[in-house]
Amino acid sequence: MRRLVSLTVTLLALCVSVATGQERIAIRAGTMIDGTGAAPRPDVVIVVEGGRIADIVDASAELGAARVVDLRDFTVLPGLIDSHVHLTGRYIGEGNWQDAAVRDLPQEDAIRGVRNARLTLEAGFTTVRNVGARDFSDVALRDMIEQEVVPGPRILVAAHALGITGGHCDVNGYVPGTFEPAISRGIADGVDQVRAAVRYQIKYGADLIKTCATGGVLSEGDAVGVQQYSEAELSVMVEEAAKLERKVAAHAHGTEGIKAAVRAGVASIEHGSILDREALELMKERGTYLVPTLMAGYAVERQAQNGVLTGLRAEKALYIAPIMRRSFRLAVESGVRIAFGTDAGVFPHGTNAKEFALMVENGMEPLAAVVSATAGAADLLGLADDLGTLQPGRRADIIAVRGDPLADIEALSRVVFVMKDGELAVAKIESAGSPRTSSSQSQTGSDGWR
Ligand SMILES: [Zn+2]
Repeated sequence: MRRLVSLTVTLLALCVSVATGQERIAIRAGTMIDGTGAAPRPDVVIVVEGGRIADIVDASAELGAARVVDLRDFTVLPGLIDSHVHLTGRYIGEGNWQDAAVRDLPQEDAIRGVRNARLTLEAGFTTVRNVGARDFSDVALRDMIEQEVVPGPRILVAAHALGITGGHCDVNGYVPGTFEPAISRGIADGVDQVRAAVRYQIKYGADLIKTCATGGVLSEGDAVGVQQYSEAELSVMVEEAAKLERKVAAHAHGTEGIKAAVRAGVASIEHGSILDREALELMKERGTYLVPTLMAGYAVERQAQNGVLTGLRAEKALYIAPIMRRSFRLAVESGVRIAFGTDAGVFPHGTNAKEFALMVENGMEPLAAVVSATAGAADLLGLADDLGTLQPGRRADIIAVRGDPLADIEALSRVVFVMKDGELAVAKIESAGSPRTSSSQSQTGSDGWR
């Protein structure tokens, strides 16, 4: 097992008194990338008050009484947003992950989620969208973070993903009686059951609806590209979710399933592995986001090569991964809206920023890749008024990285400072604060993304 040991001492401070809501904090930024897509600005001061950005001024400006955080050696950006994670439960390759559905208690999923949430926050992601979890473990995790019982990013949760009996969102391969189809687990066939399933997830806390419009890689017994919900079912799902002011995110690999989901009005296509020009035109027309999850493609390809995935799963992984990268290039060229998303959980958590390098490697401009995880993802999540950009009035979700991400995209993996809602969450440099506690361990894993 490869063990990652951080050379810098990680100083972790949670909701520390240095950053209470009332104090005025002045963050001196060497360079600021504000997340809107505008060019970087050197030597600015971001003034934080009451958990929000009060002002952004030149370094020469008179600051008045304020606690100064010196980030002059770093690039400062908005807290990053990952639109596609699975924080609860085991990541693929972690212990008996294949039997998790019949072995692990839902409580174990939530507790693993506590670890994963902390790793994600330390990686600079202050907001995530959790698109599918068992037994409302994601709702519990979201609420415990909100109530400051445990540290983590702010989470939008989908609860159970909605899928057809025997499809990608179901648990298959066991004897009858083990996982009978149930709306309470998100398994719904036909428009009436779909309506009921949407209402059920929302009743127990879902912020959005996630669905499996097509087959997938990690499910037993289905082809990866095949359409699983009819357009009629998807349309009803979108309509019902909209009544309850929720958006729908559709997992979709195959072209026909992607088009059906877009026509039905979903907010985002997750993975979008087999895209053609017609699908992209349709997405542009409807304003549908693509959430590419390139890391997932690389991860499953690697897992098929090293034996973590076997049989049909391995076959599907090796088939889809190169097609997914081709589709991403097409998508970038087409100008379709792209929101950053990784599918963390398919690989160990906290490595999310590697997606940026893959986006750039596959044809995206570095600044556009940054925007996909800031203004872009914030728009998809419906949080653009609060998050995703560094502007007066926005929530003070602010990170700093070592280096210039526009010259070296991997700088986004070198996070030295994380602030969420104006509170210091992570500081790996002395000058950024005086945190109380130390020690944070990097997650280990041989089944990483690459
Ligand atoms: Zn996923």
